[in-house]
Amino acid sequence: MNRNQALEFVESIDDLNKIKTLLKKVILTDSQGWQTNAQKLLSFIDKDFNAPIAFTIFAAKGNKKLPFYAFSSLALADCPGAGSCKSFCYSLKAWRYPAAFFRQLQNSLLLRNKPQVIKNAFYAIPQNKTLRLFVDGDFNSVETLRFFMDLCKARKDLNVYGYSKSWKLFLELNATGYDWPSNYLTNASSGSKHAKTGLETAFLKLPIVRGAFDAVKVDKRFIASKAYQDKTRPLSKDYRASVAKILKQDGKRGFACPGNCGNCLPKGRHACGSKDFKGITVAIGIH
Ligand code: SF4
Repeated sequence: MNRNQALEFVESIDDLNKIKTLLKKVILTDSQGWQTNAQKLLSFIDKDFNAPIAFTIFAAKGNKKLPFYAFSSLALADCPGAGSCKSFCYSLKAWRYPAAFFRQLQNSLLLRNKPQVIKNAFYAIPQNKTLRLFVDGDFNSVETLRFFMDLCKARKDLNVYGYSKSWKLFLELNATGYDWPSNYLTNASSGSKHAKTGLETAFLKLPIVRGAFDAVKVDKRFIASKAYQDKTRPLSKDYRASVAKILKQDGKRGFACPGNCGNCLPKGRHACGSKDFKGITVAIGIH
């Protein structure tokens, strides 16, 4: 499936019948990996999203870079705050993989058509885990934001964090006097269409916002050596010093992202989900 076909799913996200037609087209015309995964999702939709679930909703295993539970939805379809990030969005690279694409799509459809299935899966996450909400995608509406925040309040044993550009939605919910959960933190990620506006200033003041997560331009040798991926990479120390220097020059209290959330801080802690890092700008080199 090519990028234009994927974008057809994005544009049709609120029309379940159109989504089914697009899935049927993939099943008839695409290669086997795409066919099999599209069929799995179509069967799930045809059973009115009743078990068995086509793709795991909260991915449990994580990976070396992100060893936490993770939830994603369809990038662009669920990114009302997207701005310049559309030109460098890392999530779109995952669309090369059928299972990753259809997992994102499935979760976007569940949020719109049967959120109870997501709620059940959320309650089934084992005790005391860390969950990253929206590795791909973002809060698409105030209803979705309230839905997840209410779930966080119901599972105080979980540590939930994320990155968002849906700043307007957070401010809308806040204006209702909403009582935010104490176990959720978000980061203001770069590339939002609201960047450098009053919305950004107001968003950063919300109690569940840790701070900004920025991308900064660094020397090419740090990208070539993948120094931004892990502390154990050659040049990682120099890379982090360079990012810290850029932040300092910008007059920001900063922390250079070491790249691997699993060893970000001692004792398994990680900066982006830590209240100790409130107000500190975390930055990564553009890669
Ligand atoms: S600062 Fe730490 S937690 Fe945040 S993205 Fe980088 S490695 Fe992960």
